[in-house]
Amino acid sequence: MTDRPIPDIIYTKVDEAPELASASLLPMIQAFAQQAGVSVGTRDISLAGRIIATFPENLTDAQRQPDDLAELGELVKTPTANVIKLPNISASVPQLVAAIKELQSQGYDLPDYPEEPKTEAEKAVRAKYDAIKGSAVNPVLREGNSDRRAATAVKKYAQANPHRMGDWTADSKTRVAAMDGNDFFSNETSATLSGAAAADIVLETANGQVVLKKGVKYPAGTVVDATFMSAKALSAFLSAEIEKTKAEGVLFSLHMKATMMKVSDPIIFGYAVKAWLAPVFEKFGDKLAALGVNPNSGLGDLLARVKGDAEIMAAIDAVTAARPPMYMVNSDKGITNLHVPSDVIIDASMPALIRAGGKGWGPDNKEHDCVCVIPDNSYAPVYDETIKFFKANGKLNPATAGTVQNIGLMAQKAEEYGSHPTTFEIPEDGVVKMILEDGTVLHQHKVEKGDIWRSASARKAPIEDWVNLAIERQAATGYRSIFWLDANRAHDAELIKMVKPILAAKGVADKFEIMSPAEATRASLETITKGENTIAITGNVLRDYLTDLFPILELATSAKMLSIVKLMQGGGLFETGAGGSAPKHVQQLQEENHLRWDSLGEFCALGESFRFLADTKANAKARVLGDAVDAATQGILDHDRSPGRKVGQPDNRHSHYWFTRYWAEALAAQGEDPALAKVFAPVAEALAANEATILAELSAGQGKPADLGGYYHGDAAKTASVMRPSATLNKIIDGLAA
Ligand code: NAP
Ligand code: MG
Repeated sequence: MTDRPIPDIIYTKVDEAPELASASLLPMIQAFAQQAGVSVGTRDISLAGRIIATFPENLTDAQRQPDDLAELGELVKTPTANVIKLPNISASVPQLVAAIKELQSQGYDLPDYPEEPKTEAEKAVRAKYDAIKGSAVNPVLREGNSDRRAATAVKKYAQANPHRMGDWTADSKTRVAAMDGNDFFSNETSATLSGAAAADIVLETANGQVVLKKGVKYPAGTVVDATFMSAKALSAFLSAEIEKTKAEGVLFSLHMKATMMKVSDPIIFGYAVKAWLAPVFEKFGDKLAALGVNPNSGLGDLLARVKGDAEIMAAIDAVTAARPPMYMVNSDKGITNLHVPSDVIIDASMPALIRAGGKGWGPDNKEHDCVCVIPDNSYAPVYDETIKFFKANGKLNPATAGTVQNIGLMAQKAEEYGSHPTTFEIPEDGVVKMILEDGTVLHQHKVEKGDIWRSASARKAPIEDWVNLAIERQAATGYRSIFWLDANRAHDAELIKMVKPILAAKGVADKFEIMSPAEATRASLETITKGENTIAITGNVLRDYLTDLFPILELATSAKMLSIVKLMQGGGLFETGAGGSAPKHVQQLQEENHLRWDSLGEFCALGESFRFLADTKANAKARVLGDAVDAATQGILDHDRSPGRKVGQPDNRHSHYWFTRYWAEALAAQGEDPALAKVFAPVAEALAANEATILAELSAGQGKPADLGGYYHGDAAKTASVMRPSATLNKIIDGLAA
């Protein structure tokens, strides 16, 4: 921990679109909060910030940064933590490498990312970078379980202004393809530990024992799972699906989560790249290896390395011609599904495809039906069932649909999202054993070289907290409440054994249902189709997937979600929406100075954060500020002030002007705190009186390229000048802060 004072509210500094939005919005929030004696400060969890904080010895004093993430990780375990968490980049290797390059070009003397570390020094650097990549932030901050839902105003707005949905027809050829066995789902074993324990994970082979991990510690009551995906079965499945897709005449697509599942899913992605280009890998394997090709980094990286070799390029062209057309990330630029592992992220990609009526973009720049390959069966049935439901019943009607809320088990690195340190690519054939100190073999699996083995766990206290949170929300809403747990999955069966007694002890067993993900998907879709509401009580992965899937169907986006993490030690973590950092939005801003990012998620989180502060620090003014934020958010919805998608339309910056104006007007109009009303009356007046000038100043630069001075580590002054282009507005805001 550093000795910097901790602000009342911490607003995280992140990357990409949300960080650009912060350049405009945060000064407004700070100026308003200051009037109530509330300090709002930042901590840097951006990818660039985390890289800089990791290598102090390489940097000058001026370049060094404290390890803000570590500080926040401690802070979230204290009762007064109040953090507004914006989405950050979970970096794939290509993104990490690009960020390092950019920082080096700015004079930061950082080591390169060692692709194939050989020396001890290189291995040490690689280990440091590996701790930064993938989902390095959320697991540290999420010391509580998750409550995600659309605020009532947001849901009502979506019903009154339904978005366009692609049509679903019974003859759609779109389908989900998952393995028929030998995957994580079918190989899973699970056990609940009666006492505290430590486990060694070893691989026993014909040549002796390989220690994969020593002394993994678990408190009593932890549910510990182990499972593996067979590399052979995966490869055979991928090859077969490529052929089947070709015969069906639709697009081939692969959907996974290489960011969050940073160890297992890049490997799975690599198998898809190898299956796609199998003849090329067979013929030119040695040459490709010599060129440093790693299929896990994607086709984009591969093509960049082999482009000088005409023979390989010709072989690639020949294979591509024989393949089915591929689902494209960007058909204009020729970026395919298999170019970069972090380009297709299942929780965003599948809902977008479903919202479009089962269509994806093909290489011909047109929409087509699509085979959606989701190798593992743990969660593939959710998308499979959704697609079947819409094929049978037609698209969802957002004007009349009810809502699916979520209570998610997340705390203390629960389940698969905490499994990276105990995930291994098996080096040789053998038996993996998880052995406790007393010699008990908790789990064992016969594996082959290349298989992906992993152990995940969920602790007792978080599980109990999660069930209690569900009981609270059910009581508050009366909604149909379903635990998405599959009695036929090993891990879920252990959870069911813990859930049922808690429900019984509280006398609420009759208020809850327990269903497998496929059954629960169907039941939830039937419920919302009738205009009724339901609470999905799920594990960590489904928390992530469902809070994109249902909002994207109901509201068009998951960016507008209210996302509260009640920290187990009493603090509050307020996530801004359920969406990510929207890289496409940054490109648009750079090309034509239009930022279509919608800050509604930030507005929702801000209101909650102020009210939480009012409760934890007995600050009545903070409650007045928070209630006025809600009024402003309502104003944004009522008057349709959210950003438009196209250049020339009002954008993120315009929406912030309206937000501050409605916020100031609500503060001026309230009677609870006359002193605050007096401060904000002239602000509201000035904002209204200068409306035309401010809006014109905000629009003046649109249509031309914008220079941010960097992508991962932009220049603060340049970014501020792009994001705060109205001198008139700045004068009003800065005048308040002075
Ligand atoms: P994404 O950033 O959510 O982007 C998917 C699309 O959703 C965007 O292109 C945009 O659609 C729409 N969208 C998301 N947020 C929006 C907002 N506030 N306003 C308007 N539209 C919004 O998802 P992704 O591509 O899966 O992930 C991108 C990056 O975000 C990755 O690095 C990922 O790791 C990170 N991520 C972080 C978190 C987190 O920290 N909590 C969560 C998810 C993802 P249009 O392009 O159609 O406008
Ligand atoms: Mg998500």
